[in-house]
Amino acid sequence: MICLGIVVGLFTLTGCGLGTAVVPPPLPTLAPTGLPAALPTPLPPPDVVDETAVAQQATRTPEPLPTATATPTSTPSPTPTATPIGPCTERMPQDDLFTIVTQIYGLSRDYAPQDLVLLTDYLPVEVTLGYPTELRQIAIEPLMQMMSDMQNAGLQPWILSGYRSYAAQAISWEKWNREEPERAAILSARPGHSEHQLGTTLDFGSPELAEVTGIPNIEFHTYFYQTSEGIWLAENAHRYGFTLSYPRNAQELTGFFYEPWHYRYVGEEMATFLHDSEMYLTEYQLLNQPEPCIP
Ligand SMILES: [Zn+2]
Repeated sequence: MICLGIVVGLFTLTGCGLGTAVVPPPLPTLAPTGLPAALPTPLPPPDVVDETAVAQQATRTPEPLPTATATPTSTPSPTPTATPIGPCTERMPQDDLFTIVTQIYGLSRDYAPQDLVLLTDYLPVEVTLGYPTELRQIAIEPLMQMMSDMQNAGLQPWILSGYRSYAAQAISWEKWNREEPERAAILSARPGHSEHQLGTTLDFGSPELAEVTGIPNIEFHTYFYQTSEGIWLAENAHRYGFTLSYPRNAQELTGFFYEPWHYRYVGEEMATFLHDSEMYLTEYQLLNQPEPCIP
């Protein structure tokens, strides 16, 4: 894959698993109330913060967070109006938009979507950057509409990553485990534990990110939430069926840090329910299914 540029000396494998990312320290989180007793054990905080990012963060005036990432303050309803998640035995992973994927609950090495298509066949090069990014067919039309609406609004959305196979994630994981074994569990998603294996997940980019961060050619950075594209996605992506998988308060349940660029297609009804109720998908999944379904 062509990269926009390797920028800093930190090549992380977060929930996105590939790409250059800078991960500032996590913000304080509030544990949602009313969660089931058996929750995943929280991961330790990162020990690999890029010093440049820290220095910049220290000198920047913090901006208010978009409302879409606000921390839930009330117990989510046990009977939401969104489409309910069926019993595990009745769920077909190939067609299931709600399969849970966290650092705890993973996907089989045999799981691969059957309806992957190339984004370059559907979207202009200004959006795909020519990358051979794949996505499940089911999410293509909503994505095309969303990209079109963003461009018509004067924005320049980029799509930096999509489907990633179990094997590709395994190669990345092995690399990290070999080179920095003590940090691999923090920096990298183990194979089977990346939502990108579902084929419904995308990482977006913005040409504004370099200016916002002061880091030339940066692809992934938490400050994506400050870019015009990041702000628009946070406010509107749900209307097209996409949901932010890892908001600021999601680390305890998902095992992943804040990733304002990482969106997963779950359908308009579920995405809108999650947005309006200020929940994120993993939180909903753990509250509403007896035990996670692993295909
Ligand atoms: Zn991602």
